[in-house]
Amino acid sequence: MITTNTSILITGGAGFIGSNLCDYFLAKNYKVTCLDNFATGHQHNIEPFLSHPNFKLIEGDIRNSETCANAVQGVDYVLHQAALGSVPRSINDPLTTNEVNITGFLNMLIASRDAGVKRFVYAASSSTYGDSESLPKVEEVIGKPLSPYAITKYVNELYADIFARTYGLETIGLRYFNVFGRRQDPNGAYAAVIPKFVMQFMKHESPVINGDGNFSRDFTYIDNVIQMNELAILTENPEAVNTVYNTAFGDRTTLNQMVHSLKEYLSEFDATIAAVPVLYGPNRAGDIPHSLASIEKAKKLLNYTPKYSFQNGLKEAVKWYWENLK
Ligand code: NAD
Repeated sequence: MITTNTSILITGGAGFIGSNLCDYFLAKNYKVTCLDNFATGHQHNIEPFLSHPNFKLIEGDIRNSETCANAVQGVDYVLHQAALGSVPRSINDPLTTNEVNITGFLNMLIASRDAGVKRFVYAASSSTYGDSESLPKVEEVIGKPLSPYAITKYVNELYADIFARTYGLETIGLRYFNVFGRRQDPNGAYAAVIPKFVMQFMKHESPVINGDGNFSRDFTYIDNVIQMNELAILTENPEAVNTVYNTAFGDRTTLNQMVHSLKEYLSEFDATIAAVPVLYGPNRAGDIPHSLASIEKAKKLLNYTPKYSFQNGLKEAVKWYWENLK
């Protein structure tokens, strides 16, 4: 049962998804601890919470088992978001991705088991579907991983399952599909496509689409992801735990359609953006052509009802970037 004293640990809480989770659960009166080493997260993402009486920041690394053990003390639920994202990053540096995403994950599982955490909810990934060509993606049918990153996210699921079976630690994995929205980092070599393109358009620079733009994604607005995390904490349905869920809207949009919509929404703020041309480059290694989630399992077992379509979410995201980063 959730009470005003319910305490959650959000690892990766200074990152895009983690900071949105901190924000949401603080507003819901949870006690929130954020564990982050700022590898890809930012102080400015959590600045507004630092003075909040229910917020605690632990600056530390999940590769350190002692740090993990300290962070879970007195915690009811863990929302484990800390990881090194990005397929290209993992191709360039598989070892560090492995250390953070697998060793770090295992450290957090062990710490959570030893501290008697009630449930361990973690960020899994649609990359686990790998080379499976079936659409929509259903949780039970996966292919071979296409990148070191995808391997790490699949191994996370295997470990979570073993910890549930062997030690009785309740786990729920949320396979996120291309999440976007406020606070997603537009900068750096490994930036996600939507914030990166928004920033480029705002500077009147031409974004480069990898491939011909016909690849499609189930772009998922951050508020749908927050909803899934909350449902994963709250569910009391025994059939709903110790499993994984697609976390998506359940529709797909091509890169070309996404860019078209981006231009349209940004043009409401600056009409000249409509004339910025888009460029095309080669396909990227490790990218899958199409991604579309079935969200039937989450609907059935968690009562998930995504509130934001891609278009509605994109309007919100564009507005946020314009107001905060222009
Ligand atoms: P992000 O990079 O913004 O957040 C990750 C956070 O983890 C950052 O704050 C970073 O500093 C922290 N971190 C990294 N290494 C750490 C370490 N060793 N110790 C402590 N903290 C560390 O990325 P995000 O998009 O918010 O992703 C959050 C989670 O969701 C990740 O696990 C990612 O793999 C997963 N995911 C994201 C997407 C997406 O579309 N954004 C899709 C699938 C899965």
